[in-house]
Amino acid sequence: MAQGVMIIAEQREGEIRKVSFEIVSEVKRLADKLGQKVTALLIGSSVRDKAPKLGQYGADKVIVADDPRLQYYTADGYVALIADLVKANDPAILLISASVQGKDLAARLSARLGVGMAQDCTALGVESGNLVATRPVYAGKVYAKVTFSDNTPHMATVRPNVMPLNQPDPSKSPEVVNATVNLDEKALRTKVIDAVKDAGGKVDLTEADKIVSGGRGMKGPEGFKVLEDLADAIGASVGASRSAVDAGWRPHHDQVGQTGKVVSPNLYIACGISGAIQHLAGMSTSKVIVAINKDPEAPIFQKADYGVVDDLFKVVPALTEAVKKLG
Ligand SMILES: Cc1cc2nc3c(=O)[nH]c(=O)nc-3n(C[C@H](O)[C@H](O)[C@H](O)COP(=O)(O)OP(=O)(O)OC[C@H]3O[C@@H](n4cnc5c(N)ncnc54)[C@H](O)[C@@H]3O)c2cc1C
Repeated sequence: MAQGVMIIAEQREGEIRKVSFEIVSEVKRLADKLGQKVTALLIGSSVRDKAPKLGQYGADKVIVADDPRLQYYTADGYVALIADLVKANDPAILLISASVQGKDLAARLSARLGVGMAQDCTALGVESGNLVATRPVYAGKVYAKVTFSDNTPHMATVRPNVMPLNQPDPSKSPEVVNATVNLDEKALRTKVIDAVKDAGGKVDLTEADKIVSGGRGMKGPEGFKVLEDLADAIGASVGASRSAVDAGWRPHHDQVGQTGKVVSPNLYIACGISGAIQHLAGMSTSKVIVAINKDPEAPIFQKADYGVVDDLFKVVPALTEAVKKLG
């Protein structure tokens, strides 16, 4: 009978991503109710020494698949390997991060395993010993509670930045097991030759703690300078609405929303953004939302915790100065 919770730890350049620690933390909190052990699967090249950290957040066991061919994510390679390891370990629940990579992996893996999967969940619970996941539908207008059929594992991806991190316990060390990596070279149809880093070097929007976003109200690419200044002052990343991206003012990877990135920072400051449903779909789970807009009727104010009705080109520089004075 299927048993235990397995999470796929996501790493980039050998560093485990924060969302994976968030999932382990949440699962550890659920583990008592489920009465299940937590196993993390860590895949990559030269990543074995990172396994103990997963234990500090709550993993009882870490299975490490370490191979130079696994340095970069490819759907073919990762799905084949994970499907084999899932079948061999037979977990009752399988959780993956709802990052770009995680969503790609989960969709393909669920098809390979022949099980259902709930994408982009914002809460996990347990009812009668079974996983219940909460996920947004209709672009975040409604939240649906999802249960799973008898087929296991019950699969879900978890949105970054929504689940609190456990305090890591350095005295905890998980059982670490090496997995045998059997990859059929002929089945690997894509090969990543190199990964080119964004010159900005800022924190990825999906993991950012604070985001300052701009929309059509920024008037042009040069308008974003005031947002960059505020972002620098408070240690935030800069995002954008689709209008700003479509106009060529910002790169596509800055886009927040239904067809952009889904973010959940502690602080989201929306400047010159009207608050269309497709934008809200990408940021409505932010913990504190501040809107700066000269139109008091802008829909963003219905979502905002704090609002300023005024010209952003007056408000944002004043805010930046005030933050700088605070030191
Ligand atoms: C299938 C589909 C997918 C989409 N996906 C996305 C998505 O992922 N992300 C996304 O953002 N949108 C998305 N959209 C587009 C979305 O519907 C809106 O068109 C878009 O979000 C509007 O962007 P905006 O708020 O920047 O522009 P606008 O709606 O034009 O709003 C600009 C705002 O700026 C304010 N403003 C202007 N000047 C100032 C000033 N000086 N000071 C203060 N405020 C000022 C105005 O009052 C206004 O409220 C999608 C649409 C579709 C159909």
